[in-house]
Amino acid sequence: MITVVGSINMDLAVEMEIFPKQGETVQGTLFKTIPGGKGANQAVAAARLGSRVRFIGAVGNDSFGKELYENLIKEKVDVSGIAMTENSTGIANILLHNRDNRIIVIPGANYDVSKEMIDENIHHITGSKLVMMQLEIPVETVEHVLSICRKQNIPVLLNPAPAKNFKKDWMQEITYLTPNETECERIFGADWESVLKEYPKKVIVTLGSAGAAFHDGNNIVRIPGHQTNAVDTTGAGDAFNGAFAHAICSGKSIDEAVRFANVAASLSVEKFGAQGGMPTLDEVMSRLG
Ligand code: ADP
Repeated sequence: MITVVGSINMDLAVEMEIFPKQGETVQGTLFKTIPGGKGANQAVAAARLGSRVRFIGAVGNDSFGKELYENLIKEKVDVSGIAMTENSTGIANILLHNRDNRIIVIPGANYDVSKEMIDENIHHITGSKLVMMQLEIPVETVEHVLSICRKQNIPVLLNPAPAKNFKKDWMQEITYLTPNETECERIFGADWESVLKEYPKKVIVTLGSAGAAFHDGNNIVRIPGHQTNAVDTTGAGDAFNGAFAHAICSGKSIDEAVRFANVAASLSVEKFGAQGGMPTLDEVMSRLG
């Protein structure tokens, strides 16, 4: 069982021909509501591949919250650790114009994922093969989960996004850290090759269309990206993390898991929407060859 402790958002995407200036009103061309939040995206990615996934998180007692909760059930994610709180459901307001975007995130109920909530769900955590987290919930909650997992010897996969919430002194408690190139530089203040050398078999850096890399204890291993017809790269990192978690929990080595995740993530960018694009095991296996 993989336990995800993380965020659940509704993405509100608005497309327009021109961004409004201060005090101006413009007419948009498209509005879409899309289930998102890094936690939910990664949970769906692992569940589509066949992993048993349980979620600890929070939504508001409102229509988005109910829709997102139902959506996770539909994706076969165990929602018994999801609370409905008095806050509004987390949203990301995404303004799109050409290839440019401006995003406003309101964490809402995601910030109600407290240490107390973790303690109420402690049996979920201690029964896990792997705990997967991101940084869209309160930092003290992440720290609390890390310390429980260290005491119980439970492996933790941490996707350090957004990177500004990451603390370097967590490194000892983390089994796998999966920054993208920008996050890696921001966290460690060094180029990714030196970071991989410093943390062999622990840091896996994702490199967009160039694939991913890690250090196997002897050398840096670069897994090249797959040639794709990229339609929407939102959630590529989430696909990678969910798939990596699935592979590790299926007993794969880190090398095999990175290759598997790289293929899963390449498939995800060929479809629109973060969760909508998460591939099935059959799709990954046929591209892996
Ligand atoms: P994030 O989405 O967190 O910024 P990346 O952009 O590094 O992360 O993408 C994560 C993974 O998604 C990459 O390691 C790669 O496997 C895959 N990926 C991303 N963009 C592409 C692309 N254009 N073509 C093929 N694979 C891609």
